[in-house]
Amino acid sequence: LQSTFESALAAPGQTQDGTRVEVHLNAGLSADSQIAINQGVDGVGLFRTEVPFLMQRRFPSEDEQVKQYRAILASYPDKPVVMRTLDIGGDKPLPYLSVEEDNPFLGWRGIRFTLDHPDIFLIQVRAMLRASIGLNNLKLLLPMISGRNELLEAKALISRAYQEVSQEAQHAGQSLNIPLLGIMVEVPSILYQLDSIARDVDFLSVGTNDLTQYLLAVDRNNARVADIFDALHPSVLHALASIAAVGTRHQLPVSVCGELAGDPVGASLLVGLGYHQLSMNTRNVAKIKYLLSRLPHERLVMQANQVLTLDHPSEIRTATEAFLAAQG
Ligand code: PEP
Ligand code: MG
Repeated sequence: LQSTFESALAAPGQTQDGTRVEVHLNAGLSADSQIAINQGVDGVGLFRTEVPFLMQRRFPSEDEQVKQYRAILASYPDKPVVMRTLDIGGDKPLPYLSVEEDNPFLGWRGIRFTLDHPDIFLIQVRAMLRASIGLNNLKLLLPMISGRNELLEAKALISRAYQEVSQEAQHAGQSLNIPLLGIMVEVPSILYQLDSIARDVDFLSVGTNDLTQYLLAVDRNNARVADIFDALHPSVLHALASIAAVGTRHQLPVSVCGELAGDPVGASLLVGLGYHQLSMNTRNVAKIKYLLSRLPHERLVMQANQVLTLDHPSEIRTATEAFLAAQG
């Protein structure tokens, strides 16, 4: 078993019949934001940049950030690395910036905070761009976008940072590629603007943790309602199906970087719903690649369509577990 596992890890992610499913890594949440070099992945699908900010006593300087980001980009020189701009607030308050809010998850979080502090945003984006000079594997990701207006505002700042850094690079005889830009699809309001933002972005990344929380109005960290926080809720799955359809309609790459992508039932359904890029914690990579390598794509599509007709998250999980068991 060990060797089958290992060969699935070494091979590119794919279903049994050879449908390619890229498997990327989520990184940055643990205190050691060092990411293990994982040869079996297609890149880093989500680097949460909060950690260096949470671990210090003040905002890290641009140079400090450059060092951190460079280390990560250089670990995967030939693969894309998706760096998400600061997503503090919610359950991740900064120790040196006290914000009192009744509902932090509905409050000053992610892009809302950074657009109100363009200085902090510009320093971070400049640091990411500087770190990517010569490597050119950086992709930028914006968290908590709830409307096209926020995306356009962020794009204007990114473009300013790009002009500055690319000029500095030119003076030093180096060149800087324009990084690909994407948004997290995790605030439900953006679902209704995906067609109109398709031309503004290069990719989408679905955050199923927050999408579930906000779609179901269930706090993702509240033990009392933990049993109704379930990404397999039919409404979440229907939302996921419609996001995948946007990707197909606009030929826009769409990945999933929430916890659902690293769960065997979740990953199987996501591939069946039309996702070809999954991003997960390193401990799930081998398991998911192995699982997919044993499943025919066509059957995954059938299974996903079938569960879309069910009403209960638990039914959906049980049915899909039975399907997986039947596939061996
Ligand atoms: C998500 O919301 O699904 C996600 C991947 O981002 P985070 O867990 O960091 O909010
Ligand atoms: Mg999120």
